[in-house]
Amino acid sequence: MPRLLRGILAALSSLGVLVAGAPADATVRAVASTPDLKSLTELVGGGLVEVDALARGNQNVHDVEVRPSLMVKLRRADLLVVNGLELDGWAEAVVQGANNPRLLVGGVGRVDASRGVPVLEVPAGRVDRSMGDVHPQGNPHYTLDPQTAAIVTANIVEGLTRVAPADREAFETRRREFLGRLGAAQARWTKTLEAFRGARVVVNHNSWIYFLSRFGLEQAGTVEDRPGIPPSPGHLARLIQQMRQERIKVLILEPWGDRKLAERVANEAAARVVVLAHTVGAVKGVESYLDLFDYNVNALAEALK
Ligand SMILES: [Zn+2]
Repeated sequence: MPRLLRGILAALSSLGVLVAGAPADATVRAVASTPDLKSLTELVGGGLVEVDALARGNQNVHDVEVRPSLMVKLRRADLLVVNGLELDGWAEAVVQGANNPRLLVGGVGRVDASRGVPVLEVPAGRVDRSMGDVHPQGNPHYTLDPQTAAIVTANIVEGLTRVAPADREAFETRRREFLGRLGAAQARWTKTLEAFRGARVVVNHNSWIYFLSRFGLEQAGTVEDRPGIPPSPGHLARLIQQMRQERIKVLILEPWGDRKLAERVANEAAARVVVLAHTVGAVKGVESYLDLFDYNVNALAEALK
């Protein structure tokens, strides 16, 4: 590559213009368990970090099949960023199969992105399998609150700095710049949803409590009776009746959820289904962590009108 072109590319990349694309001078090979964490790692890592993800955006991230191709991704990785709180417990089996001790719990290349995040819905009593897929450490869908990104990216930068100490300042600068952009965007999202403050919605799976709480909306019920288990007819009948009585207009569904069932519940309750992106890549055009909220905020505001 001609020197001048290299110089221009380097300058653009340090300005954060060239966010996408495979960085030629990457010093760290990172893998994130989910697409949200991949995007956040890219945003703070810039051209210094090459990032891959284990789960795809169109997958239900609770439930990813452990395949040899995923283990291959981890074999040469310097850093693994996991969601934690048992959302991505399957990632542990991938690590076990990858034979890369750096990525084991407590290893130099291991980042638990949930460390320090204020966790919602931590169960008070005992949790057992009869309750469905209840997460004993609390609701794991914290990346859907943009405010948690400050903590999550601090954890990521700490991990990146452990494996590439010379680049600490670059990571910290990029993180500050990203949080600045995120803060401005969050003010915009808050404004868009302001008119619907206090609105009650029903969700398919209990993925949205962080998102709804951040923007002043309320979760009135869930289609899933117990997480991860098909709902009983009695539960659905009660839910439909409640939606009619409370005039609930919107049912939030993830692209991986049961569309037919959601449509049936919404129809009987005179409500509508809105499909939101549960993670980056879940819906066409949602390619970054900022896109995720742009899309979800606008789609939800449109549905609540
Ligand atoms: Zn869940």
